[in-house]
Amino acid sequence: MSNLPPHQPFSSSARSIKSPELDIELDHIGIAVENLPAGFEFYKALGFAAFDVEEVPSEKVRVGFIRLGNQANLELLEATTQDSTVRKFLEKRGPGIHHVCLRVKDIDGLVDRLKSAGVRMVNETPKMGAHGCRVAFVHPASTGGVLIELSQKMG
Ligand code: ZN
Repeated sequence: MSNLPPHQPFSSSARSIKSPELDIELDHIGIAVENLPAGFEFYKALGFAAFDVEEVPSEKVRVGFIRLGNQANLELLEATTQDSTVRKFLEKRGPGIHHVCLRVKDIDGLVDRLKSAGVRMVNETPKMGAHGCRVAFVHPASTGGVLIELSQKMG
């Protein structure tokens, strides 16, 4: 017999008790690459024919979206300037997973709530990201080491 205290199992019921405002889904996983065509090679081998390219001046990146068969996508990130955070990431850590993006419904309310909970934000206020979304990044220091992008689809 274990003397460990009973733990709270993480079950599907945990999802059903959340409030409706916590309508959060995985939107995409951001992957830093040296350049988009080279980064796309593997996905081409998987059978993907193309990716959508968009420049995001606010982040100094060009992104290539690989649309998967569900609601979540992969986002390849290529730096467009030497002072891009993605350029710095590549120099420090090399290519690889850069961030995880969660799709939210009320980004302003959520960012306010996180800030008042003491969560460290990279962006204190949401800004424009790719695909006409408003985004705000949460600092890895507050998330267990993962850069989290919060994104709200506008319009
Ligand atoms: Zn992203």
